[in-house]
Amino acid sequence: MEFSSKLLERAVNEMSQLPGIGKRTALRLVLHLLRQPKEQTLALSEALQAMRNDIKFCKSCYNISDSDVCDICSNKSRNEQLICVVEDVRDVMAIENTSSFRGLYHVLGGKISPMDGIGPHDLNIEPLVEKVKNGQVKELIFALSSTMEGDTTNFYIYKKIQDYNVTTSTIARGISVGDELEYADEITLGRSIINRVPFEATLKL
Ligand SMILES: [Zn+2]
Repeated sequence: MEFSSKLLERAVNEMSQLPGIGKRTALRLVLHLLRQPKEQTLALSEALQAMRNDIKFCKSCYNISDSDVCDICSNKSRNEQLICVVEDVRDVMAIENTSSFRGLYHVLGGKISPMDGIGPHDLNIEPLVEKVKNGQVKELIFALSSTMEGDTTNFYIYKKIQDYNVTTSTIARGISVGDELEYADEITLGRSIINRVPFEATLKL
């Protein structure tokens, strides 16, 4: 792609780093930003800078937050003995949208995936195990996607905590195997949390 301006080329190159954005789409978006009022383009770049500089991860559940402890963890009306284990912040948002869950979350930050070089120590698993060891938790609900990586991650955590006094369950799957949580509709997802099943029952022993 030949550019008439280095500044344009730089903007297109940066934009095309985004997932699913090729050079042509990047050029279309950049030209759109150039055509719209200057304040609007600057508002976008300021929002991105502020997000990148100021966003935090909740000390307790690792959800994305504006403060050290997120709004969910600091809400006293929530059941802190019930923890829903999820991959990332999108799952927290999907489950919160169902209004069916009044416990807390623990965000792992991904799932174990040897193919992608992601091992247990790359995820927030140890702090979760610590919560269980401290006796803070009565029930863990695994709500990872039902892929091989999700199952591996559930099982790894289960092995670490099975000797402690904690109930483990997994969300009931009205959701077909391989579907990501965030795409499940709210009613199905809400039901799958209410109708959760004991984790042991899902293990093929
Ligand atoms: Zn939190």
